Amino acid sequence: MDIEQDEEDFPIPVEDDFPVRVEDDDVIEGERSGLITGRTRPGLWKRVILYLISVSAAFVVGTVILRAIYPSIDADATVPATDESLDISKASVVLVSIDGFRWDYLDLKDDEGKPLAPTLRKLRESGVSATHMQPVMPSKTFPNHWSIVTGLYPAWHGIIDNNMYDVRDETFFTVFDHKNPKWWFGDPLWSTAKRAGLTTAAAFWPGSEVVSDRFSTPDVYLDYDPEMKYEKRVNQVINFLGGKGMPGDREARLVTLYLNYVDRNGHEHGPNSEQVRKAVQDADAALGELIEKIHAQPFSNRTSVVVVSDHGMQEMKKADALVFDDLVSTDDFISPATSPLGQFFPTNGTSSSQLFQSLQAVQAAGGVQVMMVEDTPTNWHYKDALLFRPPVVSLCKPGVSLFYKSILDQKSDVWGDHGFANDEQNMQAIFIANGPGFPSDGRRIDNFKSVDVYATICKLLEIEPSPNNGTAKTVDNVFVNKKI
Ligand SMILES: [Zn+2]
Repeated sequence: MDIEQDEEDFPIPVEDDFPVRVEDDDVIEGERSGLITGRTRPGLWKRVILYLISVSAAFVVGTVILRAIYPSIDADATVPATDESLDISKASVVLVSIDGFRWDYLDLKDDEGKPLAPTLRKLRESGVSATHMQPVMPSKTFPNHWSIVTGLYPAWHGIIDNNMYDVRDETFFTVFDHKNPKWWFGDPLWSTAKRAGLTTAAAFWPGSEVVSDRFSTPDVYLDYDPEMKYEKRVNQVINFLGGKGMPGDREARLVTLYLNYVDRNGHEHGPNSEQVRKAVQDADAALGELIEKIHAQPFSNRTSVVVVSDHGMQEMKKADALVFDDLVSTDDFISPATSPLGQFFPTNGTSSSQLFQSLQAVQAAGGVQVMMVEDTPTNWHYKDALLFRPPVVSLCKPGVSLFYKSILDQKSDVWGDHGFANDEQNMQAIFIANGPGFPSDGRRIDNFKSVDVYATICKLLEIEPSPNNGTAKTVDNVFVNKKI
């Protein structure tokens, strides 16, 4: 495992290529709205030019508003310093993602009634947590991990799915070929923190290896190795926190840790499998080890842990699958994904509306809704994307899949999947925060979303957040002293 050092200076601020549009409604909601420019629709260039003209002014307005939403550290007297020796100006945080950890896995128990995730439950009871965390749409790994660290909806951070297609140069994004910076927008936590003078490191995180002139990489990051043992990942985190392997031996103030086996087993065996139960225990044990090792270090009195997941998991059955190529002719479009959220780009002179019409045969089979992208629900924030978005989409109901026969033939009778509507119960994720920077009363926060994590961690670290879609009231509820 090689550790790469990023020696480059912090690049130009994101506003140079990240147009921001602030709308009245968004201000009221404490949210930010923006656009990524592109040329996927007729007449778009005219709109783009108009937006570019207003970019500078809009960004200034957005920044002023965001500063008002997220007050400076002096104004914040509500962060409880439970340990008097805590120097909050040096707060550190480990952001842990357990991929595919469904919100109700916290309730799993063994045959004797003992919880399978005792560490997480203890962190929840002596910290602060979300009743459940709503993922962004689509409830997929890369969009959600990038929303967690940027606070942006996919429409504005660019990663609108695990698989994407760029009509401009006919290139594809996949999780296995994702490092081209052209797909990535926003200002990830490590970039924000680095700009504020903090050192950062990643023991994996989707997007942490992307080298871009829009944002910086963590000071130290590891090449993703899905087979690396959890123990080694945890040891890396402890080293980073203590300054080992960091530039100038400076202690890392923000470290990410990514655990992938709960998701992998969920996909392969389904969420109700023994393998998922074992994977939940393993992830919880790794967290227990992390906490124990932090407590043995001098930095423990200023180090907090935030544990999240990116989405839940739905049990899938072959009996409920639709065979895509049995239903329609597949000649006149490109589809980077068909299920649960299908993306369809017309080709060979076919229009979007013709494609929409031909896909009605899929909808008629039942369990799948076909939509023009403009008609997708507003709260998906999906239709706002101007780059990479498909003109026609489809969405399966939970449990229903839509696959080419060649793909479906490789599936077993039962498996797991995610990517369904982000308000479905089985798609909900977790957010648990614990440590000297957080309340310790076990409070549960309602309506917490993955786009709220970014501002929460910025507040913990007392650094200025970039414009984001987090909701200030929700973030405040994480920290504010509990009223009885
Ligand atoms: Zn995932």
